[in-house]
Amino acid sequence: MVGAGVGGLVAGLRLARRGCVVTIFERRAAPGGKLAWLERDSFSWDMGPSLLTMPHVFTDLFRELGEKIEDHLDLVPLRATCRYHWPDGTVIDEDAAFWERPEVAAMLRHAAGLYDLSADAFLHHPLEDWWRQLLQPSMLAKLRHLPKVASFQTLADLGRRFFPRDAHLRQWFGRFATYNGSDPERTPAAFAIIPYVQARFGGWYVRGGLHEIARALRRLGEKLGITFRFGEEITGARPVGDGWELDGGKKFDVVVCNQDVLSAYPRFLPGAPWERFRRTRLDAMPLSISGFVLYLGVAREHPRLDHHNIFFSGDYAREFRQMFDEKQPADDPTIYVCVHSKTDPNRAPPGCENWFVLVNAPPLDPTRPLAWPTLGPAYAERILDQLEGRWGFAGLRGAIKVQEIFTPADFQTRYLAHGGALYGFASHGTMSAFRRPSIQPPGTRNFFFVGGSTHPGGGLPLVALGGKMVAERIIRQWRL
Ligand SMILES: Cc1cc2nc3c(=O)[nH]c(=O)nc-3n(C[C@H](O)[C@H](O)[C@H](O)COP(=O)(O)OP(=O)(O)OC[C@H]3O[C@@H](n4cnc5c(N)ncnc54)[C@H](O)[C@@H]3O)c2cc1C
Repeated sequence: MVGAGVGGLVAGLRLARRGCVVTIFERRAAPGGKLAWLERDSFSWDMGPSLLTMPHVFTDLFRELGEKIEDHLDLVPLRATCRYHWPDGTVIDEDAAFWERPEVAAMLRHAAGLYDLSADAFLHHPLEDWWRQLLQPSMLAKLRHLPKVASFQTLADLGRRFFPRDAHLRQWFGRFATYNGSDPERTPAAFAIIPYVQARFGGWYVRGGLHEIARALRRLGEKLGITFRFGEEITGARPVGDGWELDGGKKFDVVVCNQDVLSAYPRFLPGAPWERFRRTRLDAMPLSISGFVLYLGVAREHPRLDHHNIFFSGDYAREFRQMFDEKQPADDPTIYVCVHSKTDPNRAPPGCENWFVLVNAPPLDPTRPLAWPTLGPAYAERILDQLEGRWGFAGLRGAIKVQEIFTPADFQTRYLAHGGALYGFASHGTMSAFRRPSIQPPGTRNFFFVGGSTHPGGGLPLVALGGKMVAERIIRQWRL
């Protein structure tokens, strides 16, 4: 196993549970990958994921490993998944009452059909098996929803259809494209499944921080006999017989690679025919957006903030044009502020808050390089100006006790994420979900990819489902 991100951990745990001898090589000192952790001066932050959706994916995982999740993790449901703020003063809480608004409920009924049709086939099976799953007798009644999946409409088009008179709801709806790093004007309407999942399964926090998930998975791995080799980076591989040799000596029957697919290809699958596949298929796909993050320790409390908050930009379409077409950071970005200490006061000293401030940012593009080491601090000032000015957090700078900046260049270096893209590829175009690299690259034996840049995509529940898919494929192939 190469990499102890959530996808790698889940695949390794499931294989170890079936009696496989599993070794996980992880270049960093701790497990979790993007599910990382930062501590400074009694403040702590989750560096990556801040919201857990589809918690049943993890409940099922623990059960299938013979454990009860509540013995390992304290999952906390949130009253409202997010509080949305607009420049005109409108504030909406995404709570139970919100999901019952007639126009929102109508959209959810539409999306429920999409979920019924595609969740099992798409989220639980490799891409190659999708059509076969759809043709199962149990699916026949659901095939009436197929036109919703195959539609040429975008998520933004669907927003215009369901919310023709409400610009705020259109912007709220479009934001779900960013859950997989994409532009609502280019993301297929089928991604309406994301708000549906959020409404149906809720938004959750893990007490102590979401990174507790990685810690718990590591403990379970050690219990199941997995060997963790932290601080060891795998830099090359070659097929030997039916198995693989890593870094010129370590021999394994099967390799599961949790490295970002694009950055992994030259290392693990160099030369023909893989090189050609990478150039013609993968390099032609747009990268997902990256992120620009401020981790702020704020010595003040803000009653008008909820656990998750979005401060919407004035011109959403322009924001995505700047990122995807002009390859520039948006000059008026939508700002996400997550304050875990609202639910978990231990995450900050008394009277203080731990702000995780995230704005979308363009992935790195060698043809239009951005000097993030100098641009980063200037962009941080722009965001703080907006928070203090337009959003009314006067004197915020004076209350900041700790400030750390994380740019797209850091995402690339720290996680080997190609271009710093958070989710591998953007989901642009009707067929984008089906063009994601398969868990088993063409022309390989006993080599698998797992994680956010392969099927079924990014986000904690999806990479965990990907880990399950890979483990099941290996178990079936090796008749374990
Ligand atoms: C800022 C941010 C916010 C996010 N917010 C959310 C959220 O709120 N909710 C949500 O569900 N998801 C969120 N995500 C997405 C989620 O974090 C990812 O989709 C998921 O964690 C990716 O898991 P992965 O299995 O792809 O592994 P990764 O996290 O990419 O980890 C891969 C691991 O492999 C290691 N590795 C790579 N190559 C090698 C090698 N050659 N040798 C040894 N080790 C190697 C790396 O060091 C790393 O530890 C967010 C991501 C970011 C960055």
